[in-house]
This record gives sequence, structure tokens and C-alpha cells, in this order.
Amino acid sequence: MMQKHTSAQMNPNRRSLLRWSMATALAALALAPLTAVTASAADGPFRVTLLGTGTPVPSAERFGPSTLIEAGDQKLVFDFGRGVTIRLAQLRIPFGKINAHFLTHFHSDHLNGLPDLWLTGWLRPPYGQRNQKFALYGPPGIAKLTKGLTDAFSRDIEIRGEDEHDPPEGIAFDVHESAPGVVYEAGGVKVTAFNNDHGKLVTPSYGYRIEYNGHVVVLSGDTRYSPEVVAQAKGADLLVHCVTVIPDDLLKKIPAYNAILQHLSAPEDAARVFKEARPKLAVYSHIGLNGGATVDDLVARTRAVYDGPLQVGRDLMKITIGDKPTVDE
Ligand SMILES: [Zn+2]
Ligand SMILES: [Zn+2]
Repeated sequence: MMQKHTSAQMNPNRRSLLRWSMATALAALALAPLTAVTASAADGPFRVTLLGTGTPVPSAERFGPSTLIEAGDQKLVFDFGRGVTIRLAQLRIPFGKINAHFLTHFHSDHLNGLPDLWLTGWLRPPYGQRNQKFALYGPPGIAKLTKGLTDAFSRDIEIRGEDEHDPPEGIAFDVHESAPGVVYEAGGVKVTAFNNDHGKLVTPSYGYRIEYNGHVVVLSGDTRYSPEVVAQAKGADLLVHCVTVIPDDLLKKIPAYNAILQHLSAPEDAARVFKEARPKLAVYSHIGLNGGATVDDLVARTRAVYDGPLQVGRDLMKITIGDKPTVDE
């Protein structure tokens, strides 16, 4: 006989899962009649959520770089840093509901959450449930990457296919290696990839411009000062830009920091981009606070150059794009 559980007997994980499934079902019921009448891809909200605002630094507060963009019926994820699955789960977004995934470049801090998102998204519990291929867009090299991942995890894929009957489509990749230009158009959303400037050795490296309903969001990707980022972000609603603060003594002590500073933006570099592009809102993400540098240091150095609207991002910060971008606290 099957054991019956009351909610008081269930473990907390099971309870929260059940609450989640019930909430999802109720929300779907509540929305069903409305969506049938009013659904229009161009009418939904345009929202940016910073899933991870960190760097390679293994931090519990700032997970690896990743950004979620929701526009109408589209959910797009840009970069897949450490912990991307945890942040999406905190938002109660099943990984299988993401329409497309975009990579900026091949530095590991942007990629090390990819196997987790891909593999865990294939599982059948509510957090996964991907039945369609994993659509991945990015610079040339992503086909090699996905082939390598598929080889590396082949035994897991065989086992789960046989044992849990996870659908083969859900673990296949749908790879779109793209040159700069328009790379994705669906549901009224247009995504354009452009070359930023992550230094001579770190190529290819893209930023992305996302347009929806007359509004523009630009993600700089990893870059030092780049006139192309300025051009793409001129008058944009939102520019999300990387930044790194490296105190002088650290540059002397650990030579590798000089290389990092050469291919990323110091606060003054990012501030110059903000000053020239004048987005309605500038937000820092991929925030490197090295050697004891603080958010106050970052803001002070930025303010010496740029006096417009600025937010220092934090994980799970949500920015809603409308007439004026608003940050949901
Ligand atoms: Zn990088
Ligand atoms: Zn990076």
C-alpha cells in the first residue's frame, strides 16, 4: 500500500515543490481565460533579471555571470555562470521554459553553469522538464563545445534515457553559431550580437542588443572600453556593463591582474561608455571587487566621470523596462 503523507510529514523540499506545482497550476488556471483573449507577444512585460553579478571569484553573494531577459512570451538567458540553476529555481522558472540561450564568449566563468542548466533542465521534476532541444546561440566554437559536453556526459545521458525515460529531444542541442548581426527573432523580440573588445587574445567575444516593443537593452559582455558598445547602447533604455576594481598594490603583487585589467573595464572606462551612450539606466554586473575593494570605491570612481542614472547590480535584481526603467526592490 502506498504510504500517505500529510503535508506536516513531508520534508521541506517536498513541501516547497508541492507548493510550487500547486501555485503554478493555479496561476495557469487563473491566467488561461485572459491569455486566450488578450495574448499578444508584443504586449507582455520587458524585464531583465540579473541571475549572477559575479566573476570567477567563488562568492555566495555574487554567482557567476548570467542574465535573464523576459519579453512577452520569451525567456532568454545570456551566459551561464556558476549557480545559474539556483537563481532560476529561486525565481520558480523551470529550466525547460527557457526559449533560447546565448553565450558571449568562452571564458569559463560564463560557461561553467552550462552543463548544469543543460543536464538538470532535462530531468522530469518541476524545475526541469525540457522536452525540446536546448537552443544555444553564440560565436563560432559553440558547436565544438556542445559536442564535447555531449561526449563528456554520454553515460549519464544513456542511463537517464533508459532508466527515467527522459525524452531524447530534451538533451539534444540546437546550435546556432553566428557572426555578428541579428541572431534571433521570435515573439516580437530581436537579438543582435556585436563584437565588443575583450582584448586581442580573447576572441571571439560578443555583446548583445535586445529589442522589444520599441525598447532596447544592451548587455556589454566582457569588454574593455569599446566604441561599439557605445554605438549599440546610444539612448538605450538599459545598459548592463561589466566592471573590475583592482587596487594598485594587487597589480604589483599578482601579475595576472594586469592581464585582467587589460581586457576588462575599470570603473572609469565603464563610466566613459555611460557618459557617451547616455542610456536611461546604467547597471553594473560582472562586478570584480578585488583585494578588498568595495562598492563605495566602485561608485566613487564611476561618479568622477559619469553623473547619470546608475545602479550597482546584485543577484536577482529585477529591472522592468517601460517609459522609464524601474528597479524592483
Ligand atoms: Zn571574459
Ligand atoms: Zn568574465
